[in-house]
Amino acid sequence: MAYRKFRGTKLFTGKSWAPQDSVLITQSNGQVESIVPIAEAGDDIQPVEGIISPGFINAHCHLELSHMAGKIPPHTGMIPFLLSVMTHRQASIEAIQEASYHADQQMQQEGIVAVGDICNTLNSLDIKKLSTLKYHSFVEVSGFIGATAQNRFEQARTAWQKFREIGPASISPHAPYSVSPELFQLINDFDPGTLLTMHNQESKAENDFFISGQSPMRDLFTAIGVNVDFFEPPGTTSMQAVLSYLNKAAKLILVHNVVTSPDDLAFLQKQPIGETYFCVCPGANQYINQSIPPGFLLKSQVDKIVIGTDSLASNHQLSITEELKLLAGFYPEIPLEHLLQWATYNGAKALNMENKLGSFEKAKTPGVITLKDWKVTRLL
Ligand SMILES: [Zn+2]
Repeated sequence: MAYRKFRGTKLFTGKSWAPQDSVLITQSNGQVESIVPIAEAGDDIQPVEGIISPGFINAHCHLELSHMAGKIPPHTGMIPFLLSVMTHRQASIEAIQEASYHADQQMQQEGIVAVGDICNTLNSLDIKKLSTLKYHSFVEVSGFIGATAQNRFEQARTAWQKFREIGPASISPHAPYSVSPELFQLINDFDPGTLLTMHNQESKAENDFFISGQSPMRDLFTAIGVNVDFFEPPGTTSMQAVLSYLNKAAKLILVHNVVTSPDDLAFLQKQPIGETYFCVCPGANQYINQSIPPGFLLKSQVDKIVIGTDSLASNHQLSITEELKLLAGFYPEIPLEHLLQWATYNGAKALNMENKLGSFEKAKTPGVITLKDWKVTRLL
């Protein structure tokens, strides 16, 4: 059997650094055999420049929004951004699919091997069918008016049936401020033990809507013609207001968490909910309102942080490397080992893909990449 043997400047396993002078041995199809000291690796070792790592996991993307690249200018702030997405969503299916295809290719070149992808439509279905990337499709549902819940949910279920034919899929809520208690209930009851995701605490406006009710979030509802006069702010942050609605999921990926506080984290840890991951998308946070996920969260939740690019509507590229580089710029004290763990093993575990992806362990096929000067090269 033909083996491939790689020796880089350093070798990251997905969980930690391998001892210096380790060699990664895989089968020709990329299936991991072992990591051994160079003295035991035999001949035909391929020397590579840079850090060797398992392929990256993009835990939050919206492939179907790829055609919006460059359409919304940076730094508009959250509410104008959300309104712009609504007005720019429309395009021909050909244009949407062509842009999605190129985005999928870009992710592969960037060393990404799996994606947690939000779907509001079926527009990404054909691209995913053909892709070599592994996708978990999160069919997203929203509706802040309780009377629309059943209808919205049925539409999502129809889409979910299509996506689950081509890979893992679940029906997920959009965000605390866009889902009614009735709709949360339908989502929570639908598939107990599943994996869910939700945009969470992406802006101060979101928290304020729940804490005091005085928030620019109201302008968003006015602009889309939804009367929210009935809404009584519960006086807590958005996360604290809705977490109990998601208590049947085995895993939950909360996305953004820009205004999540230590108090929110303490609250979450007391809740009877599933394993919770925090997906950070610093590129999109910078693009929309020049914010960044809080350092306390990154430093206290090392085993629960995962990385997402969000969409090309709110980012310049779909590159996990660029996300890591941004985090390293804002938080130079965070060890590279942690950044890489978030982008590999943690992401795979959050998406239920750790049996195959995320780390160099025997029989897995996680992809092999090198990282040098924040540039990725794919080896396998
Ligand atoms: Zn998103």
